[in-house]
Amino acid sequence: MRSVLVTGGNRGIGLAIARSLAERGDRVAVTYRTGEPPQGLFGVRCDVTDEKSVDEAFSQVEQEQGPVEVAVANAGITHDRLALAMTDEDFGRVIDTNLMGTFRVARRAATAMATARWGRLLFVASTVGMAGSPGQANYAASKSALIGLARSMAWELGRRKVTVNVLAPGLIETDMITHVSEKRRAELIRETALGRMGTTEEVAQVARFLASDASSFMTGAVVPVGGGHGMGH
Ligand code: NDP
Repeated sequence: MRSVLVTGGNRGIGLAIARSLAERGDRVAVTYRTGEPPQGLFGVRCDVTDEKSVDEAFSQVEQEQGPVEVAVANAGITHDRLALAMTDEDFGRVIDTNLMGTFRVARRAATAMATARWGRLLFVASTVGMAGSPGQANYAASKSALIGLARSMAWELGRRKVTVNVLAPGLIETDMITHVSEKRRAELIRETALGRMGTTEEVAQVARFLASDASSFMTGAVVPVGGGHGMGH
């Protein structure tokens, strides 16, 4: 049984990944920032914009289920606005959560993984990081930057059998897209080859593979799960 931690695992894509890994037999902890932790999973409160909070969350998980062997950095936000109207604050908030938050989690997780000489780091990015999207300059920048972060850490940790991969979902039905208008959804769906949105379970299946031994020769990879959105990048 491996020790797994999924950030933002209280709902949406993170919860589906956590449940899928728990089903597979892993000991799975999730972080939650607001509300209550999901039933049946070990929940730790954590805000990824705060280094101390990340450190404390990891310490609690280590006590409960041992050093984290699989870390899924999934917590993320959007704060959409056209670039010309976007303030530093709008931009910085998204970078602090999506990019810096992932970095804080990966750095905290990597020490124990390097010592154990095995580990899986998985970053949840977005096809928007590759294709771009109007109104999402901050979000797209934060997500494409995860690729450089993953690939640099992949080089640093590869000899220790720690792999670092990026999962890039396309449009997935979760709370995150509730504010997306029907018109925009239809446009986005037209940009997919499969002609539909994806489900959290479809993302979780790929995460499960990337977290497993079956992906042992993959590192620094960007794996889109977007029905064809952003393909070819
Ligand atoms: P949700 O809005 O449903 O969930 C976001 C999760 O991130 C929540 O668990 C939330 O916690 C957590 N979170 C946000 N900010 C912080 C923070 N500062 N510290 C800790 N946790 C935080 O979104 P999704 O499930 O859709 O998104 C999950 C990931 O997938 C994100 O990184 C997103 O960018 C990415 N993604 C989503 C797509 C989609 O179409 N849905 C497409 C491509 C990528 P809380 O509940 O406490 O707020």
